[in-house]
Amino acid sequence: MSRMTLKNVIPLPGQFLDRMQSFMGDEFPAFAESLNAQPKTGLRVNTLKLSSEQFQSISPFALGEKVPWCSSAFILDGEDRPGLHPFHLAGLYYLQDPSAMSPAELLAPQPGERVLDLAAAPGGKTTHLAALMQGRGLLVANEIKEKRVGHLAQNVERWGAGNVVVTNETPERLADYLGAVFDRVLVDAPCSGEGMFRKDMGARADWSTEMVAGCAVRQKNILHIAAKLVRAGGHLLYSTCTFAPEEDEGVIEQLLREYPDFEIVQLPKFPGFSSGKPEWIEARPALSGAVRLFPHLLNGDGHFACLLRKQGETGEEEFPRPRRSGLSKSLAELWRSFTAQTLALDLPEDRLQTAGERLYYLPEGCLDFGRLRTVHSGVWLGSFKKDRFEPAHPLSLFLKPGQAKNVFDLQVGSPQLAAYLRGETLETDVRGWAVVTVNGFPIGWGKGVQGTLKNHFPKGWMI
Ligand code: SAM
Repeated sequence: MSRMTLKNVIPLPGQFLDRMQSFMGDEFPAFAESLNAQPKTGLRVNTLKLSSEQFQSISPFALGEKVPWCSSAFILDGEDRPGLHPFHLAGLYYLQDPSAMSPAELLAPQPGERVLDLAAAPGGKTTHLAALMQGRGLLVANEIKEKRVGHLAQNVERWGAGNVVVTNETPERLADYLGAVFDRVLVDAPCSGEGMFRKDMGARADWSTEMVAGCAVRQKNILHIAAKLVRAGGHLLYSTCTFAPEEDEGVIEQLLREYPDFEIVQLPKFPGFSSGKPEWIEARPALSGAVRLFPHLLNGDGHFACLLRKQGETGEEEFPRPRRSGLSKSLAELWRSFTAQTLALDLPEDRLQTAGERLYYLPEGCLDFGRLRTVHSGVWLGSFKKDRFEPAHPLSLFLKPGQAKNVFDLQVGSPQLAAYLRGETLETDVRGWAVVTVNGFPIGWGKGVQGTLKNHFPKGWMI
């Protein structure tokens, strides 16, 4: 805990320690000691933009060993601050507790599937799911809290996946409107946060047995609704970052009593993973097929995950598609002339949709979201102004190296890059719209006019 001053440290709740001692027996001293150790941070590479080997070769940070359950992630060594680096703004990686990388890996979404991340903000698991899906199919990232959804949308834009729809809804409204349409659903539930006691002093301060009981009721309600969103033959992964069995095995036990058409799928035990602990709460033995991650046994915080399969099979059903609000002839011409000058990729026009003056590129197999509150649908390509098309920031982050015709490359550490990220204009001989890149990776837009590159890096993203 070297980065925390003693003044900041709140003692671990006594009742929590007593409970854990009764659960863990001989293992308790090592477990309790690990809760006062320095937490580990992981860096997960955005494999939509580069491979983990490529990142290793350009990494400005000391990368430690690979996370055993996530082949695209490394444990960070040293005191670097990668959250402030331009590569982070270009979406080359996500910083995350290594244990929090387990749910997406265990759910194992496939390219082309329909996947729901029901409790998604700030987007750690959404970005991971999108990478595993290779940007293909449909990923719905939902966050119930309006004040958290903006951060989620920004992380999704930075990631540049292209297949994500961000919604701001209650689980009930999603289930009522969409029904059992998803191949895979992730419920990364709000919890008492015991697994984060090493770094989250607020979680220590807020903890009580009443809070654990209250969380368990809320989790049960969320999971029961989530079950209605899974198609026959589909999978549901429930995860928390707490050790309390009432919030873990207990919630699954209640679900299975009411939904006998779900069965537990045995999860792989990566190095350091432990089995579920049905004996802690008198739940069914099959719950040992769940996994628990303990901080004294691996490099990461505390986590729980259980995978369920809904019995049955679904054929190829037709789901409501978005009502087409495609391009008029004149708008199509503006878009085509912009792409002809600027982009080196072809986006199929049957996936383009307008919303007011904005133009979006919808995910493959996108559903109709009707009146559901949608914050972000696929890629916001740009906006139609009077007689021109103006590209939007998320389009630059969606582009891979080589997909832009006009490029203005800046190097990490150069005064020009620092100036661009502060919103300043730069000298250039580039004309018209150009993708600004950092060491070759797109990071924003600029427009070359009479020897000057006008800065279009958004204010909200500036360092
Ligand atoms: N999956 C996220 C990630 O990896 O970045 C973290 C999710 S966090 C553990 C749980 C989320 O559940 C929070 O964003 C919280 O706002 C949301 N939440 C709270 N109450 C909820 C409810 N009743 N239904 C659905 N989500 C809820």
